[in-house]
Amino acid sequence: MILVNENFGKLQASYLFSEIAKRVKAYQAANPDAAVIRLGIGDVTLPLAPACREAMHKAVDELGEEATFRGYGPEQGYDFLREAIAVNDYQSRGCDIKASEIFVSDGSKCDCANIQELFAQELAIAIPDPVYPVYVDTNVMAGRTGEAAEGRYQGLHYLESTAANAFVPAPPAERVDLIYLCFPNNPTGAVATKEQLKAWVDYAKANQALILFDAAYEAFIRDPEIPHSIYEIEGAKDVAIEFRSFSKKAGFTGVRCAFTVVPENLVAYTKAGDAVAMHALWNRRHTTKFNGVSYPVQRAAEAVYSPEGAQQTAAQVDYYLGNAKLIREGIQALGFDCVGGDNSPYVWVNVKGDSWEFFDRLLNQAQVVTTPGAGFGKCGQGYIRISAFNNREKVIEAMGRIAKALKQ
Ligand code: PLP
Repeated sequence: MILVNENFGKLQASYLFSEIAKRVKAYQAANPDAAVIRLGIGDVTLPLAPACREAMHKAVDELGEEATFRGYGPEQGYDFLREAIAVNDYQSRGCDIKASEIFVSDGSKCDCANIQELFAQELAIAIPDPVYPVYVDTNVMAGRTGEAAEGRYQGLHYLESTAANAFVPAPPAERVDLIYLCFPNNPTGAVATKEQLKAWVDYAKANQALILFDAAYEAFIRDPEIPHSIYEIEGAKDVAIEFRSFSKKAGFTGVRCAFTVVPENLVAYTKAGDAVAMHALWNRRHTTKFNGVSYPVQRAAEAVYSPEGAQQTAAQVDYYLGNAKLIREGIQALGFDCVGGDNSPYVWVNVKGDSWEFFDRLLNQAQVVTTPGAGFGKCGQGYIRISAFNNREKVIEAMGRIAKALKQ
């Protein structure tokens, strides 16, 4: 008899974005003339930077000629891109990361979902709350949790990110083996200082633990004191894997390109206590299950590091940060506390009440769609996330409408 993976049955219905869509649809059906502005979803709106577009066109033309045609590329990514990443994202910031430690992929979502295959079943796993849901759900699917009760899975260690710790949890008193961290954070927009990350690196070293560091929003960091990579912390190469993506850095959400850094000296252990190199394991997994990112996409990603590409993509990020500033200042002027929006595209607002009620209020009274924080975890209750990914005029219009609605 074919048996199903019953762990899927433990998954709580991922109802956040479908519930939002349902409520927006119902509102629009009842108010067909209302112009709804969406500041909910974390998808980019600006078109591809010219440098990336040109590089992609050129690569497509190369594929159209016999002399320059390419078939399968290296699963880990072409050397030209791995080298550009190592030099520009790491070595330029003093991080000793080599091109051979970079694994190019079609997305950080897949990478941070797939990485758990490298680890044993019986791990103590620490996951932030609120959180990007992929970390939790993939461990549920893999059978590393018990059932869900009151919005939390048994067996997981939740790292509560609240106003009390300025949304940056400290290492727990108890021992955990695998730690998920995400900075700049989705959904809170909070960033971690060097000292805060050092505490995690020290903890991981002391406990033979491993950190999975999701830096998908790294490009939004503008404060020179805030680290862009966990490898800016001494010793992190021994205990951390880092995920990065071109999705938000260069508007590649539809193009698809990302990478994972697995340092060659990073190890996990067998039950007998023998060290196993994670680089070799991830290489084995990647080459077995993945056949590489397409050549034109990797050329477009390489162009992000050209002088023109760097300038154009930074200008796009600045544009979204300009939106975020307007959102943050607008919300604060209305008397609400918020975090994020200065080194992140997300503003996390304390709504002084129920997340969904506030979401409904903004939808019905301002025709603005946000994301209820409760959908990201228990600690998200009482918050909404406002996304800066939209065009400037719409953001200004939305903030004007929100101000009017909330003053009523
Ligand atoms: N990590 C975080 C924290 C995200 O918010 C997202 C996308 O929204 C991703 C990873 C996924 O990125 P990608 O588009 O590279 O799959």
